Amino acid sequence: MIINNDLVNISAKLSTELLIGKKLLRNMPLKGFVCKQCGNCCLNLSDAYSTCVDEKDIEMWEQAGRSDILACVASIPIGEGSFVYDIWFNSTTGAEAQRCPWLRKLPKMNKYVCRIHDVKPRHCREYPKSLKHARKTGCKGFD
Ligand code: SF4
Ligand code: SF4
Repeated sequence: MIINNDLVNISAKLSTELLIGKKLLRNMPLKGFVCKQCGNCCLNLSDAYSTCVDEKDIEMWEQAGRSDILACVASIPIGEGSFVYDIWFNSTTGAEAQRCPWLRKLPKMNKYVCRIHDVKPRHCREYPKSLKHARKTGCKGFD
């Protein structure tokens, strides 16, 4: 007979597995998507480079020792020890960047690369979220 504690344990295990499943699904590449390195998302979508990152991105950069990236983030206290992390700022002048500082155009090619590809922010890693999202925002990854 299953007693209440067993039910609680089974429920907690299922929830954990569901969360892991969701995370794995999220990290799987979208079917049919191949980035064409056109740079549209980084150049033309202001919420790619003028937005906030979450604490997990900050932790990732701290663990990777990426003080160069952290120097381009403005931490704004919002009370009770919490912060919002605003991106991107010039590490020398503090001025807000007018485009993503990590984007580079390949010489003599109409292609772009992200200089922090392995540790880019979550919203960049998860772009586009779907075919519909890609179409709506001008991404050529499904063409
Ligand atoms: S961090 Fe990389 S992927 Fe994100 S906007 Fe900048 S260049 Fe693009
Ligand atoms: S807009 Fe789409 S295809 Fe172009 S660089 Fe961004 S993700 Fe890649």
